[in-house]
Amino acid sequence: LSDRDGKIWMDGQMVEWRDAKIHVLTHTLHYGCGAFEGVRAYKTEQGSAIFRLQEHTQRLFNSAKILRIPMPFSQEEVNEAQRAVVRENKLESGYLRPLVWLGSEKLGVSPKGTKTHVMVAAWPWGAYLGDDGMAIGIRVKTSSFTRHHVNITMTQAKTVSNYTNSILANMEALDDGYDEALLLDSAGFVSEGSGENVFLVKDGVVYTPDLSAGALNGITRNTIQYICKDLGIELVQKRITRDECYIADEMFFTGTAAEVTPIRELDRVQIGIGRRGPITEKIQSAFFDIVNGRNPKYAHWLALV
Ligand code: PMP
Repeated sequence: LSDRDGKIWMDGQMVEWRDAKIHVLTHTLHYGCGAFEGVRAYKTEQGSAIFRLQEHTQRLFNSAKILRIPMPFSQEEVNEAQRAVVRENKLESGYLRPLVWLGSEKLGVSPKGTKTHVMVAAWPWGAYLGDDGMAIGIRVKTSSFTRHHVNITMTQAKTVSNYTNSILANMEALDDGYDEALLLDSAGFVSEGSGENVFLVKDGVVYTPDLSAGALNGITRNTIQYICKDLGIELVQKRITRDECYIADEMFFTGTAAEVTPIRELDRVQIGIGRRGPITEKIQSAFFDIVNGRNPKYAHWLALV
């Protein structure tokens, strides 16, 4: 990913893609104190638009606040940086990665004395869990790794270090022949995927774990709440057990990268009809209408670049 043409926004400047480098003694590289976002731009009739740009930037600033990282740029500047990388790289659609990290002024656990850096990169990225996964659903494994406890790390911050747990769970699932992991919280209740929030459907009602299960407060998750309301589908946030998933009618993952991905199997147990269910399909289709600018009610969620 580092050897390509294009521009990356780094600390207020557009730099050549290949020159967007950091020093090996960068604090965040050693101790993992950093925050990031995953954002998508979509092609709409009006041109490329970033979906829920302000909400992603707000979450980035919230993550930095939780980590006590002072931000050297305003939210407006970071919004504009995101628009600028989409424009500069001439992307019609794609994935954006804003990242906040601490510099190489010193090492030692205390970050005091380090400088905050910010960058935004953007590149084309299709369906995160594959085009087939979008259409027929993916196979998921309950992870042997527990999701973060809310007082071990900060689960409402999208921090760099939180992803070691995600990587372990995802690697285990992939090595075992599955497409993605489902993590349980420290009390054994369903939390989330390695990079996705999770939903299940039972008797026409949609359920998702409440945030006390340590799941990230996903922006796509929030979008699904609006979609369910519009479709007249009840959505309940509650504690969910692993066996409730096995006997669910439908399951799906949501996330900026994963969008709305159906789950057809969990731990070799077929979920519902074993492919994308009808309610998942309705929600998925409403989601793509919104992000692609086909639903005027949500035009304010699309920031033209
Ligand atoms: N949980 C985790 C662990 C994630 O990495 C993501 C992706 N950011 C999500 C949930 C979904 O969040 P969002 O819909 O805001 O992308």
